Amino acid sequence: MKIIKKVLSSTFILSLALSIQAAAQEALIFPLGEKAANVHHTGDVWLSHLSTPDSTFDYSIATATFAPGARLDWHTHPGGQHLLITDGICYYQERNKPLEILHKGDVVKCQPGVEHWHGATPDGGMTYLGVTGAQPTIWLEKVSDADYFVNKKNNAKSMTTEQEIIELSKQKWQWMADKAVDKLAGLFDAKAKFVHMGGSWGTEQELNIIKSGGIWYKQADIHEVSVEIIGNTAILLNKITLLAVVGGNEVTNPFMVTEVYVKEGDKWKLGSLSFTKLLNP
Ligand code: MN
Repeated sequence: MKIIKKVLSSTFILSLALSIQAAAQEALIFPLGEKAANVHHTGDVWLSHLSTPDSTFDYSIATATFAPGARLDWHTHPGGQHLLITDGICYYQERNKPLEILHKGDVVKCQPGVEHWHGATPDGGMTYLGVTGAQPTIWLEKVSDADYFVNKKNNAKSMTTEQEIIELSKQKWQWMADKAVDKLAGLFDAKAKFVHMGGSWGTEQELNIIKSGGIWYKQADIHEVSVEIIGNTAILLNKITLLAVVGGNEVTNPFMVTEVYVKEGDKWKLGSLSFTKLLNP
């Protein structure tokens, strides 16, 4: 009896150890690296240089891990930067623009010379892969506590779910107008359905159409918006006048747009977008 118990408990400990090991391996894709000296950031940041520029490759690749509350100072990259979020939630802000809240799997393309900062949220750690042009980063002033925590006050967590969905929907119209396919790809669920006057299709085709300019959602004037939350699903109705360029021709139509969002983990994804043409604008 005693022996059986012992066997059971050591099996339990072994499986526990294996699951902890698996979790740790999942969390850390690349080495954590060295803790960086506090010269150009606030809080604790670890850096691991994965690839340095050479005569063939004009960019560096590094992974950075931020403790909760840690953030870089304002800065610019003369050669631009991609950030690929691999874990946690990332704050990213460009000068004179609203804070963006990015999640694991999101990709940011920061244009050369644009003043910006990025870091963790006050409540959680964050890791990204940074692909940065070879020219040295130009460091500016610190992100003050006041600015950083104002962001916390305004971030999605303190909004009601309804407000969060309305903001997300507005951001989506902007991304569609900007043909920001990389951002839309992060928002659209891979199995999402899009219903238009001319037919219905899936995410890949929708993204291709936006990218190619087949349909350019140039400007959506929002007249009314309402949201219903049903469990982990949000249904948003948008009464809009849409100025679109379809096959090279500008067309203006009044639509009721139905947007269905589904909460996947801690992120809302668009599951469906349907355009219903209204008889009366
Ligand atoms: Mn940067």
